[in-house]
Amino acid sequence: MAFLQLEGLSKRYGAIDAVVATDLAVEKGEFVSLLGPSGCGKTTTLQMIAGFVDATAGRIVLDGRDITHAKPSSRGLGVVFQSYALFPHMSVRDNVAFGLRMRKVSSADIDRRVSTVLNLVRLAPHAERYPRELSGGQRQRVALARALVIEPPVLLLDEPLSNLDANLREEMQFEIRRIQREVGITTLMVTHDQAEALSISDRVVVMQAGRVTQIDEPYKLYEHPRTQFISGFVGKANMLAGDIDAKGRPQVRHSPGDGALTLSLRPEKIDLLDAGSGRLQGRISVRYFLGSQWLYRIATELGELTVVRRNDGSAPLSEGTTVGLDWQPELLRVLAADEVHG
Ligand code: ATP
Repeated sequence: MAFLQLEGLSKRYGAIDAVVATDLAVEKGEFVSLLGPSGCGKTTTLQMIAGFVDATAGRIVLDGRDITHAKPSSRGLGVVFQSYALFPHMSVRDNVAFGLRMRKVSSADIDRRVSTVLNLVRLAPHAERYPRELSGGQRQRVALARALVIEPPVLLLDEPLSNLDANLREEMQFEIRRIQREVGITTLMVTHDQAEALSISDRVVVMQAGRVTQIDEPYKLYEHPRTQFISGFVGKANMLAGDIDAKGRPQVRHSPGDGALTLSLRPEKIDLLDAGSGRLQGRISVRYFLGSQWLYRIATELGELTVVRRNDGSAPLSEGTTVGLDWQPELLRVLAADEVHG
């Protein structure tokens, strides 16, 4: 049995099925993200694990122990929410020490453990400061330190970075991953940010309308999304009509016919060639500069396609230019129709 196991976990609020029969097995030391649009049941799932919301049906098993209806305090899990809720009148050190004092840990042990954790989150130099004297990122590290210092079996993070601006957010993503690896702590993170989920997780759980629709490693999820929704939600995708050729490979069809399949083609998988070559001709209708990449929208007879090219330092293609488009057919992915909506 996995270290943390959810079995048929469900939550109903009146007529709303917030979470429906969720199964998930998280291995010890794994970093798993719950990813999905607003209202899909991510937070409710995390809250049931934390013990703040009572499950309607199903089981939560932690390290072989059924904790489905155990009190939050007896689960001993580390929890960090988006609003970090530090004690404003306590120094960083005291904020972090609080949980240990509540547990009646000896003061020598408290000093040792707090120092270790403050070093881990790189806040040792700011130990005597108050929360108001810290940046948003530093406050978030205090919240993380406070959760980690009790040495919980599982760390639960609910949108821990959503209050931070874009640059800091990215930096903190890598920080969280570094800390999680260093401690080796089993971690479950809720996010609606697909880039965040892909960049720092061992596995990603995609949720839609209360249901889990795919669980995979980030690379597999991106390369082999199961459904149209997942393909569009995780990264960008061009959706094309197609079918399977005589050799069993997906191929694009120029007009959707009977039994047509939906194929997905990622923007960076399309090559741009001189006009007249390639599988398809198109005209660049608009381009956007993304720093490391150029994003082109190209009008073709298959509709408007999005193409992303690496910025190699040379001048970009101009809007209005006619280009040829090409791709490796094996990079087309066949998608299943969406079985859930929302
Ligand atoms: P977000 O990203 O917006 O936080 P989420 O994926 O975390 O969304 P949940 O907060 O888990 O979604 O909510 C799932 C569903 O359950 C939503 O339809 C929500 O309105 C509903 N819900 C959540 N909490 C309650 C509650 N206390 N009472 C009634 N309905 C609730």
